[in-house]
Amino acid sequence: MNSVLLTKLLEAGTPPELVGEVAMALARAEAAQDALTRFREKDLAHTKAYRARRGLPDSGWHSLVGAVIERDGFVCTYCGKNLAKGRYAVDHIVPLGRGGTNDLNNLTMACIGCNSSKRDRLLGTEWTPPKDRLPK
Ligand SMILES: [Zn+2]
Repeated sequence: MNSVLLTKLLEAGTPPELVGEVAMALARAEAAQDALTRFREKDLAHTKAYRARRGLPDSGWHSLVGAVIERDGFVCTYCGKNLAKGRYAVDHIVPLGRGGTNDLNNLTMACIGCNSSKRDRLLGTEWTPPKDRLPK
């Protein structure tokens, strides 16, 4: 790995204790990089499994989310909450399990609160948004 660099430092007359510190720092950086890689792989696997469960397209989902954000802005359609600085969800207005699709017209911006409160219920009949706001 970095043994070539460490050898060069020693050959250049760098004090061995300094080379030792460089070696330790490099090892820590490598361990951090490995941990990050493992986290990203786990995250990616989680995302793939979630999409598979919900029948979401593996590719194209990001551009769909981008189109929803472009259309709705960072505002919860249901309660009007500003989502620019917090977490948000893209909600299926008609839930997938109730015959809804991944079509742009069936997707809307929602805050985590509205999204988890609505769950797989139908808008208007089974679930009413706070303040009676209905998506346009
Ligand atoms: Zn909301």
